[in-house]
Amino acid sequence: MPQDIATSLIYHPKYLEHDTGRGHPESRYRLEVMMKAIKESGMLDHENIIRLLQPVMGSPENAILRVHPKSHIEFVKRISANGSSADPDTPASPGTYEAALLAVEGIILAGDKVINGEAKNAYAMVRPPGHHANATSARGFCFFNNIAILAEHLHQEKGFNRILILDCDCHHGNGTQDIFYDKQHVLYISFHQDGRTLYPGTGFQDEVGEGEGEGYTVNVPLPPLTNHESYLKAVREIAVPIAEQYKPQILLVSNGFDAHHLDPISSLQLTADTYREVIKIAMQLANDLCGGKLVITLEGGYSLEALPKCILSVLSQLSGFKIEVKDPQPSPDERVKDYVDRLIREVKRIQSDYWQF
Ligand SMILES: [Zn+2]
Repeated sequence: MPQDIATSLIYHPKYLEHDTGRGHPESRYRLEVMMKAIKESGMLDHENIIRLLQPVMGSPENAILRVHPKSHIEFVKRISANGSSADPDTPASPGTYEAALLAVEGIILAGDKVINGEAKNAYAMVRPPGHHANATSARGFCFFNNIAILAEHLHQEKGFNRILILDCDCHHGNGTQDIFYDKQHVLYISFHQDGRTLYPGTGFQDEVGEGEGEGYTVNVPLPPLTNHESYLKAVREIAVPIAEQYKPQILLVSNGFDAHHLDPISSLQLTADTYREVIKIAMQLANDLCGGKLVITLEGGYSLEALPKCILSVLSQLSGFKIEVKDPQPSPDERVKDYVDRLIREVKRIQSDYWQF
């Protein structure tokens, strides 16, 4: 890999114009605190390490139509124009439609930079997020499923037939799962808080895909208070061997920072360092399996204190720009460790119909 190829960081100021209203956790402040920390870290002063790119509005409708019907695009446009809501959690505003289109442009730009060899890897720091949106529903703060649209762009436009999506948001990516549940050109692996304790209430270990997609959905529903060690153990023992057998042509990550212990709406206990390690594992897999091709998109994450630490840790890992982030771990709960150990064994037992461990 030539040394002068930098990490691409994708961002657009219009992402701030999706207004969710007073007190909503998915606010513009999320991106503002992250961008402020990124600028203050000095990493953007080194264009050969991290390059900040702004997507240009073209006709993203064509890419969106590979996942969502025209009626869904029209719906998002309409609720944006009149400032109504897709569901009680998912309000739109006049700036929402353009932000959502630019989020799609952003992730496609990230994907294209990586597959054209113009970036070492890419991080699309977009909002609104996407992984709860299925083909016909905007929900859970999401309007268009950004990562699914990128996967279909890669599949239908660029000929990729084995795309791995690793979802490390605290919530199950029910939209992404729905879209690819009966397909095998996308392998979806999600680590999330158990649906009995958190929205959207899906993503149990026996949800494994159907039809030709059977065995291409992997769910690891972690109990509240799962911490750094247990989380990484689950990723290493489940995601790594399955990825090695699937041999993806590109690795995509739905990166939500809401599994951080400070997150106000979720209950896992990760730290910024856990996210750094997850990205390190993803980079290792991408290097071993698909020439390093790795594209990451922001999903959730609502602690304004945790977000800057998490994004700096991830971008530092992706780019090699050294930043030390101090983020002490809460003390672990032994009962949770035992529960996660049993869960790992159970997921392996279920998935052993399709994969070797
Ligand atoms: Zn989330």
